[in-house]
Amino acid sequence: MSHAETEVALLEFIVNRVGVGIFVVDASMTVKLWNKFMATHSGKEESEVVGHPLFELFPDLPEKWLRKKLDAVLQLGSFNFISWEQRPFLFQFRHNRPITGGIEFMCQDIAMVPIKNSAGVITAVCCSIHDVTDVSLLRKQLQEKNAELEAFSKIDALSRLYNRGYWQERLVEERSRFVRYGTHFSLLMMDIDFFKKVNDTYGHLWGDAVIVHVAKVIRSALRDNDIAGRYGGEEFTVLLPLTHIDGAMIVAERIRCLIESTPVPYEDGKMLSITVSVGVAECSKSMQSAEELLACADQSLYESKHAGRNRCTMYERKAIE
Ligand code: GH3
Ligand code: MG
Ligand code: MG
Repeated sequence: MSHAETEVALLEFIVNRVGVGIFVVDASMTVKLWNKFMATHSGKEESEVVGHPLFELFPDLPEKWLRKKLDAVLQLGSFNFISWEQRPFLFQFRHNRPITGGIEFMCQDIAMVPIKNSAGVITAVCCSIHDVTDVSLLRKQLQEKNAELEAFSKIDALSRLYNRGYWQERLVEERSRFVRYGTHFSLLMMDIDFFKKVNDTYGHLWGDAVIVHVAKVIRSALRDNDIAGRYGGEEFTVLLPLTHIDGAMIVAERIRCLIESTPVPYEDGKMLSITVSVGVAECSKSMQSAEELLACADQSLYESKHAGRNRCTMYERKAIE
């Protein structure tokens, strides 16, 4: 074997062993080279492919798009690189990962390089296909985990309502909207009545079960864009966007009645009735801050407690039973 023949054999060996798909097409889109990686993943051997038109062999290829990319390389002589983020794959190759994460086909980065003849004329394009499925799987997992973490950071673990921090952010947002657009918005603040006695009589664990129960009832009574949070131990707050005080009072009464009429199941089939007191306030132009609105609802809640509990009180109006 001459030195030149040895070099060609070595190059062929490398092209076929490398873990990258390599193929070459000429200006008429006829395949000139098809390496082992391409044969293995496409199920079409080199002998079936080389010398045949690419788009007849693979009718599923995005012909218009790919022709444009290849023509650009043929005419301009520049390199072209297409990331999986632009187009997840060119060839529909199955990947062999046990965990698919919803990714069905091998994700591919594609590089296109012009090939010149001895006269310096571009006659063909060499394309390499890089399997980047692991990168995209990891990216997808990372995005899912980030979304989970973000959701966790907003949710109170016991009640599954928004936690105080996130709820307060939403309160400030709603107030800014109110200041800018002058729409109505109201706030409920509620507190379970005689909850210390519940804890003392039935134990802390059962007290926790009562908190979960009340949170569920609150959620069931609200619309999708109402924003319910656990403000403290057994205190709950609800933002009611686009709702004036009369509407808020109706919602408050609905929640109060539902809680009163839905006893919490206790051991041995026993049921325990609980009640809540509610303070209701609507945001007004005279209020200087979100805290001021909260303080108004808190004052009304105090009035509900003082007047005998299990009732709703409107800010600056009389309590109703
Ligand atoms: P009132 O009718 O005036 O509200 O009386 P109350 O006994 O409910 O008084 P208060 O609202 O001050 O009671 C709060 C109690 O809630 C104190 C604490 O023991 C209990 N608590 C706070 N957080 C939790 C919790 O996460 N789980 C349980 N089980 N109890 C809690
Ligand atoms: Mg309390
Ligand atoms: Mg209480």
